[in-house]
Amino acid sequence: MRIDLHAHSSVSDGTDGPAELVHHARAAGLDVVALTDHDAFDGWPAATRAAAEAGVVVVPGVEISTRLSGAGVHVLAYLPDPGYPPLADELARVRGNRMARLTEMAVLLTKAGLPIDVDDVLAVAGQASSLGRPHVADAMVAKGYVADRSEAFATWLAEGGPAYVPKYAPLTVDAVRLIGDAGGVAVLAHPWGRGSRRVLDADTIRLLAGRGLAGIEVDHEDHDRYARGALREIAAALDLVVTGSSDYHGTGKTGHALGVNTTARGEYERLLDLARRAATTAGREPPRLGVV
Ligand code: AMP
Ligand code: FE
Ligand code: FE
Ligand code: ZN
Repeated sequence: MRIDLHAHSSVSDGTDGPAELVHHARAAGLDVVALTDHDAFDGWPAATRAAAEAGVVVVPGVEISTRLSGAGVHVLAYLPDPGYPPLADELARVRGNRMARLTEMAVLLTKAGLPIDVDDVLAVAGQASSLGRPHVADAMVAKGYVADRSEAFATWLAEGGPAYVPKYAPLTVDAVRLIGDAGGVAVLAHPWGRGSRRVLDADTIRLLAGRGLAGIEVDHEDHDRYARGALREIAAALDLVVTGSSDYHGTGKTGHALGVNTTARGEYERLLDLARRAATTAGREPPRLGVV
């Protein structure tokens, strides 16, 4: 069974529509794919509808932007109730700030000699409900300022870059609690990828595990084999679920093809079991998997 638990659609910064993503997952030989757009649930209906048609199980998820000691930490939430008001409200706040920050980035770029405005960004962002730096990058490509997203990040948009603007995000512990209260399961996304490695040492991961964190995404392209080995040991010591995923973004990010990393069947089943228990404890109706 081939299981990929982290993929983005055009609802955030991926380039495939949610249904198209599910069909691509089948073409890549996957049996299970999780849709985990940044800070938005809007792709769930189309993706779960496409599941039966494509012959792929779709796990509804979301990748939540959080903050820990001044660094950005991404937390994957699987099967939370999207209608749980505290979670829905918090994500709406994050998306609202994402939108407001586009203006600030446009001003910085314009002052630096690359005239751009928010409408240029919205024009390339299509139907996205979670807007971010990748969309600004796409607008810069459209204007001929840079060749691709990578160059836009390397030269302008990366943390510390001349057009970098931070965004609002909840504290990591608060997001983990909200996910549990919504009947979902929280997994740290690419903990030792750029940005979050500095703040997510073994002690901090233990602390988060004590506050409800259920798993760690160990097999991810941002982790070399030494990082994977060390993270696997941390997960084993804390009895955390170990996942592996592509973090697919369509053509928006190279080196993240669907299925490039996968999750073991036993770990996936543990995750589903934890989600069922979380939903029962929280008294929430769990969202349905998009089934074959
Ligand atoms: P934001 O959420 O707006 O702060 O933007 C962060 C997103 O940009 C991440 O989810 C990544 O997928 C994407 N990203 C970061 N670096 C790059 C890069 N070099 N090329 C393409 N996408 C990137
Ligand atoms: Fe992304
Ligand atoms: Fe991420
Ligand atoms: Zn991601």
